Amino acid sequence: MIQINSNFMRLPESYLFSDIARRVREFAGANPTVEIIRMGIGDVTRPICPAAIEAMQKAVAEMGARETFRGYGPEQGYDFLREAIADHDYRSRGIDIATDEIFVSDGAKSDTGNIGDILAADCRVAVTDPVYPVYVDTNLMGGRREPVLLPCTADNDFCPDLPAEPVDMIYLCYPNNPTGTVLTRSQLEVWVNYALRHRALILFDSAYEAYISAESTDVPHSIYEIEGAKECAVEFRSFSKTAGFTGLRCGYTVVPRSVKALDVISGREVSLNRLWLRRQTTKFNGASYVTQRGAAAVYTAEGQRQVSETIAYYMTNAATLRSGLRECGLSVYGGEDAPYVWVKTPGGCGSWEFFDRLLQLGVVSTPGCGFGKAGEGYIRLTAFNTLENTRRAVALLRGL
Ligand SMILES: *Cc1c(COP(=O)(O)O)cnc(C)c1O
Repeated sequence: MIQINSNFMRLPESYLFSDIARRVREFAGANPTVEIIRMGIGDVTRPICPAAIEAMQKAVAEMGARETFRGYGPEQGYDFLREAIADHDYRSRGIDIATDEIFVSDGAKSDTGNIGDILAADCRVAVTDPVYPVYVDTNLMGGRREPVLLPCTADNDFCPDLPAEPVDMIYLCYPNNPTGTVLTRSQLEVWVNYALRHRALILFDSAYEAYISAESTDVPHSIYEIEGAKECAVEFRSFSKTAGFTGLRCGYTVVPRSVKALDVISGREVSLNRLWLRRQTTKFNGASYVTQRGAAAVYTAEGQRQVSETIAYYMTNAATLRSGLRECGLSVYGGEDAPYVWVKTPGGCGSWEFFDRLLQLGVVSTPGCGFGKAGEGYIRLTAFNTLENTRRAVALLRGL
């Protein structure tokens, strides 16, 4: 009989968002007059900027005319977008990334999930705890062992300690989802040096890079700001949170040609750039032309101004949450360089218990334990709501 990939049976069942939905439904049913404020959403809410919309409308018109119609594009992305990325996101920061080291895709979730295809199944994986679950589940699907967990709590200031046992693949997401915290340049240097010393690979997810505040000059926007990172790191970026592309789908992955890994059969070192190109050209046919035109427009002066206005709006919400919750006597982390605020539950109460207390006030959060064991005793609030609702939520929380 046909057999399944039994690795799928090892995946932990996730009831987090269905559990939240059920509790909210039950509360709403019992309290029909209470207005519910959803501060748990991990999705942007403001529309895509006019510069990107106009560029896409123009691209749609091109697709409808015989002279300008385009079929399959390059699997790695159009040069107009890869050039814009290299110039704006890297060269402007003094980082030399070539266009053929940039792979445009339909988003960072697929890339962080697919990168394991080109690495050995017996690689040891390390992830921070709490964590974006994609890193864990995709590696279990690929047959890898349970990852080594690197706890990030208030006790270590949300900076993961180096693993006690050797690891090969290290997922770091900074600015972090769910904690909203960041690593400074010197904290990230420790990881790059570890990777170089142990010949390990860092998988750096910087989906929230655009949220790093101008004042946070000590927080790197790219891992390639760290010396040596071009020998040991792959970087994932996305237009999802930067430009509201969550429903449109566009991201990119940087695989420097200088990142090498061992082929045990031949004993040779192989460039990951070559393997990722092979993987993508085989299994992926590129992001749509229209979407890539929209993404490229984000890099125009107009586009930049428009997306930074939207991000500033979200970050006003984050600041409102931070100061409001502090005034309630709560310990609050993150929210300065990320759209997430991570709140310690008071009096040692559990994540779900505190979630329920907030829900009684009409505020929906996300229990930290849903992101991993070390998230127990925290909840996540997001900045992706309206300023009005954010203020209302803060006012309600004063009733705690
Ligand atoms: C939202 C998010 C992404 C972006 O994923 P896309 O597939 O590009 O929408 C990547 N990593 C993390 C940690 C995220 O929270």
